[in-house]
Amino acid sequence: MVLYGLFPGYTRISSPFGKRHAPTGGASSYHYGCDIPAPQGTKLIAIHDGEITFLNFLGAGGYTLTLSFDNYKVSYCHIDPHFLVSVGDFVKQGQIIALVGPRNVYGVPGNFYKDEKGNPTNGATTGSHLHIGFRINNEYQNPMNFF
Ligand SMILES: [Zn+2]
Repeated sequence: MVLYGLFPGYTRISSPFGKRHAPTGGASSYHYGCDIPAPQGTKLIAIHDGEITFLNFLGAGGYTLTLSFDNYKVSYCHIDPHFLVSVGDFVKQGQIIALVGPRNVYGVPGNFYKDEKGNPTNGATTGSHLHIGFRINNEYQNPMNFF
């Protein structure tokens, strides 16, 4: 699989998998994934051949894409709302499937995540980054154990 689902150059993890102090209101104190800071617009690639099985706004994850293959599900959170693929698409490893999203997004019904100025955010986020979640048989695992 391709490291972290990002193009080379973005490998710093700002928040690892596991217990943590919630960095922003509404963020979980148990972190079911890894955070990798990257500028808005950074290309996100499929870490494996698979099917796009979810693509929508999802609470704390903000705009989220899920790539499924075998019994794995890989979630890319806080992505750009201008989607590059659709649910049901089959993608190839290395294909660009999304872009790192902006911190702020507007007009999402039911999004109660906000920054310090009260502007709505792309889920629970303090800045542009990829949150990558990794499930095997629907159980969250530390992605770093597999990449
Ligand atoms: Zn995260």
